Amino acid sequence: MGRLVMKFGGTSVANIERIKNVALHVKREVDAGHDVAVVVSAMSGKTNELVAWATETSPLHDAREYDAIVASGEQVTSGLLAIALQTLGIQARSWQGWQIPIHTSEAHASARITGVDGEEIIKRFKERKEVAVIAGFQGIHKTTGRITTLGRGGSDTSAVAIAAAIHADRCDIYTDVDGVYTTDPRVVPKAKRLAKVAFEEMLEMASLGAKVLQVRSVELGMVHNVPVFVRSSFDKPEDIDPRGTPPGTLICSEEEIMESQVVTGIAFSKDEAQISIRNIQDKPGVAAAIFGPLADASINVDMIVQNVSEDGTTDLTFTVPASEFPRARETIVKAQSKIGYAKLDTATDVAKVSVIGIGMRSHAGVAAQAFAALAERNINIRAITTSEIKFSLLIDAAYTELAVRTLHTLYGLDQA
Ligand code: ADP
Ligand code: ASP
Ligand code: MG
Repeated sequence: MGRLVMKFGGTSVANIERIKNVALHVKREVDAGHDVAVVVSAMSGKTNELVAWATETSPLHDAREYDAIVASGEQVTSGLLAIALQTLGIQARSWQGWQIPIHTSEAHASARITGVDGEEIIKRFKERKEVAVIAGFQGIHKTTGRITTLGRGGSDTSAVAIAAAIHADRCDIYTDVDGVYTTDPRVVPKAKRLAKVAFEEMLEMASLGAKVLQVRSVELGMVHNVPVFVRSSFDKPEDIDPRGTPPGTLICSEEEIMESQVVTGIAFSKDEAQISIRNIQDKPGVAAAIFGPLADASINVDMIVQNVSEDGTTDLTFTVPASEFPRARETIVKAQSKIGYAKLDTATDVAKVSVIGIGMRSHAGVAAQAFAALAERNINIRAITTSEIKFSLLIDAAYTELAVRTLHTLYGLDQA
């Protein structure tokens, strides 16, 4: 007998029929003798709809009220699943974030979990074999008592945090694909499922655009050493042997991966915008004058490229998430006299393609191969960043799919 967290994403609970199917998945594990906590997302499309309603009411709205609105999607699915389980004769109870409680920071719309009290859930496992059905994505800020949400895709993080709090043996993330692939299988049909991915690699893949897991969920899994298993909710519950090993991907520590390839996967993001500041002085304090105000405005800056100057002036290019682009541009325009630049160039039709693999630590020239392959396809590289286990290239968005497919083939992932 073990203890499991089962998380079901939006498409897995998209309608009542699918919620009933989820209930059968849960029943299978309960019948096998496990203690089960379930974490659910809102029905697919629901959160988008709620966000749109908030924006339609007022484009610039109070983030506390945004959270009050968007947290409601998960409240509905947790109640529905509890009913579906009860109908199958399973003792089940729904829980909202504030009821557990799941404490978070006060950063509304992108709050971080600061603590989860798993006592009551564990007590009910022991006393009544009760399944806890927990609304993902939401928590509560202790001092203000207000509902918070964890950022888009946040139910993954709720699930891993619950798993750590109740000392679960595993956190199963049920989604609409049957694991983590070498790249998004919806874009590259040749993408292959990976049996195991190291936490560090998954962290990079998630932060560089693979939305199959929210970044913070991977961080939590790594810190608390929770094995996270990504699998499909569309497999028929009756076809699955709870004692067997289903198809899926285990996110685990690096030591558990015997044979690793140089490149594990390719991620991409079209949610990028480029800002180039022309003719700035190449002297101390200029970078601070640019990035200080951006940091004060809580704008995440990603790639930064600056040329070495010959005549004392230079250009500086950086990228920000597309959603933060208008604010970032405004911030730089406001700071023009302090920075002292001549011209501002911007582009929003750009994409970042990233190649990830822990094997890169011990292999040289991996990025150089990509430059040659993309040049052959006439794909221009606007900016490059590298780190120990990944490199990222900024290109024109129109070439994203071509670049991803080219690199996928180049690094032998078509045959992975
Ligand atoms: P859920 O609603 O279950 O949380 P998401 O839509 O958030 O599901 O995440 C699953 C999606 O992630 C898949 O449908 C797939 O298109 C996308 N995805 C992106 N990159 C990858 C990858 N490397 N492996 C698997 N899925 C990926
Ligand atoms: N429903 C939320 C979203 O769509 C959280 C999640 O599904 O993980 O972002
Ligand atoms: Mg998701």
